[in-house]
Parts: sequence; structure tokens; C-alpha cells
Amino acid sequence: MSNVLIIGPPGSGKGTQAGRIADHLGIVPVSTGDIFRAHVKSESPLGMEAKIYMEAGDFVPHGVTNRMVRTRLNEADVSNGFLLDGYPRTRAQVDYLDQILADSGQRIDAVLQVTAVDEELVRRLLIRAQEAGRSDDTEVVIRHRLDLYHEQTEAMVAIYADRGILARVNGMGAVGEVTERMLLALGTVTPENLEARASVAQRLAGGTLV
Ligand code: AMP
Repeated sequence: MSNVLIIGPPGSGKGTQAGRIADHLGIVPVSTGDIFRAHVKSESPLGMEAKIYMEAGDFVPHGVTNRMVRTRLNEADVSNGFLLDGYPRTRAQVDYLDQILADSGQRIDAVLQVTAVDEELVRRLLIRAQEAGRSDDTEVVIRHRLDLYHEQTEAMVAIYADRGILARVNGMGAVGEVTERMLLALGTVTPENLEARASVAQRLAGGTLV
């Protein structure tokens, strides 16, 4: 299992879990939020552009995000596998990711979706705001980010469910417990799903995206 996605609402602990799961699978964690934050910190042109959207809790425009992901996924260190955190977040980004991977004969092998209750997420994020001082962790922005997640990202996950490669995991509980659940869930994404993947590859080759 080499190319894995982790999807979850803000505050679900997906960043922490991404690092742990990637270590376990021996693949490289790639977080679009972290890449954006590094650009903001170094005040690069990309960072200056992304900052406005991030502080408002909005999606950074797809053109900018897609280019950044394509560049990152073409780097040598991810050629043996990656765990992508924070991308895709919309159906359009799923299509784009499919194209990036199809261009290099790859595919997504499994998708982990972390679930959590909204009020617990808001509570955790407000604590993180005090501890880490992230500028997008104010209550108004947190609720906006949650709304975007429910409206766009959750709907997008159905695409991976249809492909038979989605594993949903309850993100509530101790960090180690959730990691265990995720590794177990990944074990359920098995070769039986190959048929679904093959049919996706066929549709892609025919130029029709699912
Ligand atoms: P995260 O750390 O994943 O919560 O991402 C922090 C912020 O970075 C988001 O609220 C967006 O502003 C931006 N961002 C990260 N990933 C994406 C993406 N796939 N599409 C658009 N914006 C993104």
C-alpha cells in the first residue's frame, strides 16, 4: 500500500495521525497545510497569496494549490509512496489528483476518513489556538472551515467510497488508540478492491473521470 490519503475535519488530529501512519507504512507524509504555512513563514510569493485565504479559513484557489501539489508529488522522495494530508478537498481536486497520478502510472491505494463531532472539534481547536497561536484558529474561522469541510470535502469522499478504497475511522479517543484503529481499517482495504481500481483506471484511460 503506497499512496494513501487522509481526510478529516479541522481539529480531528489528522496531521498527528498522518505522521504516525506514514512512519508505520514507510511512506512520506505530505501536508498541503504545512507546505502553505512554510511558504507563509518564508514570505514567498506563494505564501503571500495563500495567507489571505488561510487567515479567512477559505480554500486557497485551486490553480495555486494544484500546481503546488503536482510539483511536490513529482519530487523523488515520494516515488515509493506518500500519505497526502489536506488534499484533495473538493471534487475538482480529486479529478486533478487523478490526472497527476495517471500521468506517472500511479493511483491512490487507500483513503482514510477521520470522523469527529463538531462541538468537540471546535473545543479542541480553541485550545490549539491558545497553545499554538495559529492565525486560522479563531472561532468564526474555525466554524467556516468546518462548514467548508461538510459542504465540499465530505461530499467528495463518496468518490473514494464508490471505488471501494475508503476506510472510515472514529477519530475520538487517545492518539495511540486512533492510530491502531486506522491501521486496522487500512487492512480492510484489500486486493478485492483491485477490480474497482482497474475500472477507474479504464475510465481514466478513456478520458472520462469518475
Ligand atoms: P490544514 O492545515 O489542512 O487545515 O490547512 C490549512 C489551510 O490551508 C486551509 O484552511 C486552506 O486555507 C489551506 N489549504 C490546505 N489544503 C488545501 C487544499 N487542498 N485546497 C485549498 N486550500 C487548502
